[in-house]
Parts: sequence; C-alpha cells; structure tokens
Amino acid sequence: MCLSDAINFVIDNKRGLLKPIIDKKKCVLCKKCLSVCPGYTIDFEGLTPNNFEGIYNKYLGYSMSAFVGYSLNKEILYNSSSGGLLTEYLIQLIENNIVSGIITVQNTNGEKFGFETFIARNRKEIIDAQKSKYYPIPSCSIFKNIIKESGTFAFVGLPCQIAGLRKIQQNTSELKTKIPFLISLFCSRMPNANATNYLVHKLGLPIKNVKNIEYRGSGHPGKFHVTMNDSTEHYLNHLDSNYWGYNFMKFFKPVRCWLCPDHSGILSDISFADNWTQYARHKDGSTMILCRTHNAEQIVKKLKTEKKIYLSEIKISDVVNSQDIEYKANVIPRMKIWRFFLGINPKYVNLYDTQKSIKKNEIFNALPEFFRVILSSVSGNYIYLNVLILINKGIEIFAMKILKRKWR
Ligand SMILES: Cc1cc2nc3c(=O)[nH]c(=O)nc-3n(C[C@H](O)[C@H](O)[C@H](O)COP(=O)(O)OP(=O)(O)OC[C@H]3O[C@@H](n4cnc5c(N)ncnc54)[C@H](O)[C@@H]3O)c2cc1C
Ligand code: SF4
Ligand code: SF4
Repeated sequence: MCLSDAINFVIDNKRGLLKPIIDKKKCVLCKKCLSVCPGYTIDFEGLTPNNFEGIYNKYLGYSMSAFVGYSLNKEILYNSSSGGLLTEYLIQLIENNIVSGIITVQNTNGEKFGFETFIARNRKEIIDAQKSKYYPIPSCSIFKNIIKESGTFAFVGLPCQIAGLRKIQQNTSELKTKIPFLISLFCSRMPNANATNYLVHKLGLPIKNVKNIEYRGSGHPGKFHVTMNDSTEHYLNHLDSNYWGYNFMKFFKPVRCWLCPDHSGILSDISFADNWTQYARHKDGSTMILCRTHNAEQIVKKLKTEKKIYLSEIKISDVVNSQDIEYKANVIPRMKIWRFFLGINPKYVNLYDTQKSIKKNEIFNALPEFFRVILSSVSGNYIYLNVLILINKGIEIFAMKILKRKWR
C-alpha cells in the first residue's frame, strides 16, 4: 500500500503476472511496499490475531470448527463456485449491519473482459460478484480508499492477500479497525493470465473481442464460459484437458504459488472451499467452511438457524484429507530447489516445518515441476506456448516412465 500513489499493477504480457510499475517521480523510497509484501516474508505466528481459537493444526493454523453445506436459495446455489455459502455469509454480514461493505472482486463491465477489486454494499452487488475468478487481480489500491470511508468492511481474498493485509494492518492501525473481518478462499494456485488467454485461443476466439469470462457457475463444478462482444457464448467443460483436466491447472502455475505453503488462509478469520469430502454433497455443489474465531462461527450457525443454508459439522481431519494441503505445506524441498538454481526465496518465519529434514527423494520428486514452472513463465505467445506445453509433456513422461518419479 503506497501512500505516495507511486505503484500501479499491470499484467506483464510475457509472464502473465501482475507487475508493479513504480512512478519514479512519486516514489519517496520509503520501502513500505516491500515491508508489507507477502511475496517477501510472512511471519505466520507473529501475524496471528489474539482472538483466534481452537486447536493449532500444522496444516491449517488455528481451527475451531469445520462445516460443509450449501445455500438453500436455488439461484445462489446454481450460480456459485461450489455451494454458495460464501455469498450467503457475505449477505448476512451486510444485512445484519455487521459491516457496511465487502471488499471482493467482480468482472469489469467494459468492452474488453477484466476483473477488479470493489466494495459490494448490498445483496445484489454480492450476488453479481459470485463465482471464482482465476485471474491475477490487484487488491492493494482499494485500501487507501477504505481509510477515507466511514463504517467497517470485510475483505475476501486468497491466503497470500490475507497475509499481506494482516501485515498492512500491523503498520496501519486504522485499517485494523476498519477491516475487522478477513475471509479467505482456499487456494492451491492462481493460474497466470496466460492460462486464460490460452483457453480462449483453444476455443478459436480472438482475445481482443472477449467481453466477459466466467470460470465457474451454472451447476457444479461449472464451466469456462466466454461471452464475445457480438453476444455469442462459448464453453469449455471443467475437466477438458486444456482446463482443470490438465493445462490450466498444472502448466500455468506461477513461481510464488509453487513456493506457497498456505492452502487454507491460515491468517483469516474464516475460510471457504470446495467441498470434496463425502458429506453434504448436492448435485449443484457444496462448500466447505473452516472457522478460526467465535464471531465468524456464530454467523455461520445463524445462517443455519434462519434456514438459509444446509449445514453439517465435519472433523478438522476431514478438511485436511479432502484437499492437497499436506503437499502444499511441505514447501521446503521446493524452496531448496529454487534456492539452488535461482537464489532468492520468500521467507516464512515460524512456519511449522521449516526445521524439517528433507529426504533426497522429495527434492527429486519436485524437480520436474520446477521445470514446468520455468517453462510456463517463458512466453505468452500462443505458438511458443504450444511448443512449451509439448516439452512439458515430454519431461512428464520422462520423469514418470523412465525415472519412475511421482508427477504432480
Ligand atoms: C484462485 C483460486 C484458487 C482456489 N483454489 C481452491 C482450492 O484449491 N480448493 C478449494 O477447495 N477451493 C479453492 N478455491 C475456492 C473455491 O473456488 C470457491 O471460491 C469457494 O469454495 C467458495 O465458493 P462459494 O460457492 O461458497 O462462493 P460463491 O458464492 O461463488 O462466491 C465467491 C466469492 O468469492 C469472491 N472471489 C472470487 N474469486 C476471487 C478472487 N480471485 N479473489 C478474491 N475474491 C474472489 C467472489 O467475488 C465472491 O464474492 C479457489 C478460489 C480461487 C479464486
Ligand atoms: S518505496 Fe514507498 S513511495 Fe516508493 S513505491 Fe514503495 S511505498 Fe510507494
Ligand atoms: S497459491 Fe499461494 S501465492 Fe498463489 S495465489 Fe494462492 S495463496 Fe497466493
């Protein structure tokens, strides 16, 4: 968060990542941006708020209770990413005057598709913003506006953004008071922007004429849905090999996501996820919730009492077992590889397993993925991308069939 207004985030067309552009005339070299950046350091213990309750779980941080369920409003459920519980939760925060606005993301409404961080202030705006956006979206610039606003706000973000906001709140007490609710989505990765462009290209569509993109919704698990400027609509199934079936999910993974240990938003008051457990499944989807504070849990329970949602409590171990959390938390082999080849790593202070000894085997298993991360950041050009994806396939086959290595 830059008080001199010197930073502007733009998508770097080559790597598909958000790149900070610094206006040298405005920058006063105070380095505050670096001090709050979650890409450099995260002190998980030091940033944990005092009101967190429950048992400390080495993969999830503090966890007091977990639930699965879905919205009993058919429209909210059908248009959600998983079960619409997050949307119900946000509506509850607003309609009970617990906060005056929700900082979340929405599709921009211009000629060309895009996404933005905004403040939703009523039920309609919250519902319009439903569905996961798998595209890098900057959130920092909104915090300066929040200081000027009256009332309090909830923030919805990815685990790294939650960590960044906790850091900002440590430095700026006004923002601690103004944003008392930090809500995280579970996150295994954020595919870079080239992943979206590549899908549009695979559908045979010119990216410059795309008006709107949706990644989930219309039932479970949802479809990739493109609307063009001429109003034609195009779809890709969720498990298409170019979408979550393989390329979108595996190939276009940014380095920081590869080196990320936090799947659940360890520093958030409450986290929302797809429900991959066997409980409370609905054909149109269901959501999993993890509570870390008493207040956050009370709001979930009130939604159930008011019969707005179907809700069932599950064990914390069900949360861990239903997602790839253990892999993500075991970040040390990946960090060792990155340090060996490129030198710089994010610094995770007090992370539960930083002292863990690493077996050689774990390093070898992570190596093929390292090459994939490098390949996917080399070019955003479609012709090169097709070649790079083929090379990646070659490495995968070599690693699995010849070296008998695990492949993720
Ligand atoms: C990049 C990314 C990776 C994810 N990875 C996982 C995972 O590995 N495992 C898992 O179980 N779940 C993951 N999720 C979460 C999951 O997709 C759903 O968002 C979650 O289950 C809530 O679903 P819902 O139906 O309750 O929410 P909905 O009713 O669909 O509401 C979603 C809310 O989240 C907001 N939102 C959407 N995208 C973003 C974004 N990029 N940044 C900030 N806010 C956003 C929307 O504006 C809306 O307010 C991921 C989400 C994202 C965006
Ligand atoms: S160093 Fe200070 S003034 Fe310069 S971009 Fe960072 S926060 Fe802004
Ligand atoms: S994987 Fe980690 S670094 Fe990447 S977007 Fe998710 S929370 Fe952020």
